[in-house]
Amino acid sequence: GKLAAVLSNFHAVAAGGASPAEALVSVDMLREAIDAEAFQPWFQPQAELRNGKIVAVEMLARWPQQDGGMIEPLRFIPLLEQHGLIDAFTEQMLARSCRHREAWVRDGLDLKLAVNISALCLGDAATADRLEAIVRGEGVDPASVVLEITEGSVICGSPTSLSVLARLRLKGFGLSIDDFGTGYASLSRLSHVPFTELKIDRGFVTGAPGVARKKAVIEASIDLARKLDLRIVGEGVETAEEWELLARCGCGLAQGYLIGRPVPASELPSVVADWRRPGA
Ligand code: C2E
Ligand code: CA
Ligand code: CA
Ligand code: CA
Repeated sequence: GKLAAVLSNFHAVAAGGASPAEALVSVDMLREAIDAEAFQPWFQPQAELRNGKIVAVEMLARWPQQDGGMIEPLRFIPLLEQHGLIDAFTEQMLARSCRHREAWVRDGLDLKLAVNISALCLGDAATADRLEAIVRGEGVDPASVVLEITEGSVICGSPTSLSVLARLRLKGFGLSIDDFGTGYASLSRLSHVPFTELKIDRGFVTGAPGVARKKAVIEASIDLARKLDLRIVGEGVETAEEWELLARCGCGLAQGYLIGRPVPASELPSVVADWRRPGA
């Protein structure tokens, strides 16, 4: 029931927004793109608000096209889900991201790695063992990996998905509630999942300094995160004023264009080297 509702929503997004080129994407093309490693993991930095240090990256998938264009993840992720390819995609992208992380660590850049996990991946009881095997296979401790799950998918969470999340946490993975504030998940439901982090949705952060209502949501989220002993990340930080607002409110980490846009792995070290926090 609930899962079907989520899926039909995904279908609507995929069908409604598709450009002519995207409408022609077939299951074979998606499978070939996975096999050819045509999807690219890009990375966006996260910085500690108290000292400006970049301590983590979120992997955001990209699908470059022959003509130089790029298909957005919000277009192809629903297609991968619809065609039963999201597990294969997620596992490959996780493994490749871990390899990049290990290369950065060798260069003295110890960054936690955040990866988005589709609600569908949580429907399979074997997911926790598989994700652990993948990261350990790349020499990465699960404690260095944060899995981001949207607030909306927790609302629809089946007993299986809740137990998968609990098992992932027991294996040491960090668990982040993504897009917090947009999914209307009840606190009692959220408290059933052993989350380690809460990400305030970009919609509340961008423009917050001029909007009292947004500021109130940010303050309440930070207060909740403190009481539940969760790390807190503000996403969509585009200006020095937004950075300073989050810092004043006691937010832990910031992510957004101010610090850096998502970039290919090879460009990340220079993004880290060039970054200066506001006022520094
Ligand atoms: P998300 O997880 O909420 O990721 C944040 C999105 O906000 C990213 O869009 C990022 O590029 C964008 N963003 C970050 N900072 C700023 C900012 O300061 N201003 C603005 N305007 N935007 C900012 P992107 O890369 O297009 O990804 C969209 C969504 O696609 C993600 O939202 C995530 O839900 C999904 N996604 C991306 N990669 C994957 C993946 O590998 N697996 C899954 N399941 N979902 C993915
Ligand atoms: Ca995310
Ligand atoms: Ca988000
Ligand atoms: Ca989002």
